[in-house]
Amino acid sequence: MPSASKRPRTLIVTIDGPGGVGKSTVAKLLARELSVMYLDTGATYRALAYAALEERLSPVTDVKPLARLARRLPLHLARAEGGSLRVRLDGRDVSRDIRSERISEAAAQVSQHALVRAAMVALQRRLAKRQRVVVEGRDTGSVVFPRAPFKFFLTAAAGVRAARRQQELAKLYGTQPPLREVREQLQFRDELDRSRRVGPLVKPRGAVTIDTTRRTARQVVRAMLSHIRS
Ligand code: C5P
Repeated sequence: MPSASKRPRTLIVTIDGPGGVGKSTVAKLLARELSVMYLDTGATYRALAYAALEERLSPVTDVKPLARLARRLPLHLARAEGGSLRVRLDGRDVSRDIRSERISEAAAQVSQHALVRAAMVALQRRLAKRQRVVVEGRDTGSVVFPRAPFKFFLTAAAGVRAARRQQELAKLYGTQPPLREVREQLQFRDELDRSRRVGPLVKPRGAVTIDTTRRTARQVVRAMLSHIRS
């Protein structure tokens, strides 16, 4: 890396793609290599979904209360030891709880609403206020930071994505749901993410596509770094 004085003041790298393509793993590694902040926008939607279910809101129909909740969400993200993300809601550590399949589904539902997305995009921009950030999600290169100088779009074969998500769940909760179930869940979320009217999952203009099916996270990061440094 260049010395601190030679570093650009802002450096925004966006990484988008569907679930299970390895966005989080790659984004964390890349942020570490570049010595910048890591922002997981999926975690912000998951935290909102968690708070909404606690308040007994419907993630599908309670649009206005969900948007109000999003505007005052007491969310705090920090990097924990080992590079993982610590997610706090009103001081409570919910990092593990927000990764369950129930919250995955509710997050995909709350993120459908335009009013909710507007509040969440504002929150995400505030969280990245120092503008030295690797940010990952579904619309980070198209909506959250459309002028980011470096944008990547990750893809992978459906079977590989499901196997990765299954492993992630096994690591988190110690039990491994059947592959077919995981694949159906991913498919359900993909359809919602791609078909919504506001901030759908798309390849952002100017993004470089990387297929991660047969690449390790380190290989993907190496490809990204060589693109950024060139
Ligand atoms: O990436 P992750 O699986 O944690 O995201 C959870 C859900 O949040 C996604 O299924 C998607 O519906 C939503 N999301 C979104 N826009 C983003 C990031 C996530 O709509 N930028």
